[in-house]
Amino acid sequence: MTDKTTILYIEDDPGSQVLVQRTLLHAGYRVVVASRGIEGLDLAAKELPDLILMDINLPDLSGREVTTRLRSDSRFRSVPVVALTAQAQAGEREKTLVAGLTGYLTKPIDVDRLPEQVATFLAGRKESLSVEALAEAQAAYNQELVNRLESKIRELERNYSELRRLDKIKEDFIQLAAHELRTPMTTIYGYGRLLQESPIIRKIRDESTEVQIFLDGLIESIERMTGVINEILTISRIATGRVELSVGPINAVRMMDKLVQGFQPVIQQRRLVMEFDPKQWPALMQGDSDLLALAFTNLVGNAIKYTPDGGTISLTAQQTNHTVTVAIKDSGIGIDKADQTRIFEQFFTTNNTQLHSTSKTAFRGGGLGLGLAICRGIIEAHGGRIWVESEGRDETRNPGSTFWVELPLQARIMSPRRVVTA
Ligand code: ADP
Repeated sequence: MTDKTTILYIEDDPGSQVLVQRTLLHAGYRVVVASRGIEGLDLAAKELPDLILMDINLPDLSGREVTTRLRSDSRFRSVPVVALTAQAQAGEREKTLVAGLTGYLTKPIDVDRLPEQVATFLAGRKESLSVEALAEAQAAYNQELVNRLESKIRELERNYSELRRLDKIKEDFIQLAAHELRTPMTTIYGYGRLLQESPIIRKIRDESTEVQIFLDGLIESIERMTGVINEILTISRIATGRVELSVGPINAVRMMDKLVQGFQPVIQQRRLVMEFDPKQWPALMQGDSDLLALAFTNLVGNAIKYTPDGGTISLTAQQTNHTVTVAIKDSGIGIDKADQTRIFEQFFTTNNTQLHSTSKTAFRGGGLGLGLAICRGIIEAHGGRIWVESEGRDETRNPGSTFWVELPLQARIMSPRRVVTA
């Protein structure tokens, strides 16, 4: 920190910025400059200036509004704030003083006099108004504030409805594109399977490792692409509230058992320990079995994906009268506190999406950042809750994460929360 007197100049015109800065620097002051009202408020809080020079016509908040805002903060109650403005119409000076400014200097800037004027305000000079002028200016300033507020609200409403319109176009496009892609993919997948099972191809495949690699690579990529298309379709339905639950009885023991079995190959390959006790899970609950299985597959898949080889994943469930609380705990890299709500947003991923070629269950494998948004949509559509606990992310210490899911045993059908893309 310097012991020079600091002046904050809030001004959007570059020419004035340079002129004032040069003049005051020359006079021995330290000068910091902000080009917008909000930026000025932030800079004032950071620099705690000794005096503020304020343009009135700023692109966001007006200089008057910035000053009124500053005056509500005890740190700025007695800091001189001097208008430096081209507004010379009748009533402007009065409105400006009533808003909390200390003085009113008009442009063009008189560079010869400015340092001396600044010095007098620093020494305690304060411009004042007569009682009558004060009342009139106060009413005019109040009116100005209300008018600006109204026009800002109208502008926000217009922007919001435009965004909603664009968001709908985007969602419709995603749905259409994903549907159009899924149809030929289903055919390609079917032919791929037929190829795999055809006795002639099998014979060639057994004889040639090359053909085997080509065929396996083909099928794996088709499966991956089908998975991505389905993920996009599901999230798009959840985002637009178009997901329809088909609720029926679910045997969660069987559902989870099947799910864990499905992950066995990767569990073995990555030498993971999977702790799972089927007895803890409800043999009967209500819900959409396909969607709940998808949600838990995503959660277990993530636990595997973000846990280094040799780690432990545990799936536990605890039942009360009306709910089941599930914990999916891993010994993986963990999640930063700051990201713990954001990870449930669409397309939020800490992975580099440029490196998406790896398998989804490989350590830190690829993903679109849709899995948890889908989970949240599905769980909330069942009237449940999902949240995460983790000490933070640390790829050497591996503090792990626990994803909690609380579900009613009898699904209360809720319309899922709208998930808006950031
Ligand atoms: P994706 O895995 O495709 O990136 P998700 O929506 O499934 O998308 O997850 C979003 C982000 O949440 C991931 O990028 C990752 O940073 C974090 N995450 C999810 N599950 C875990 C976990 N079990 N351990 C650590 N990080 C996780």
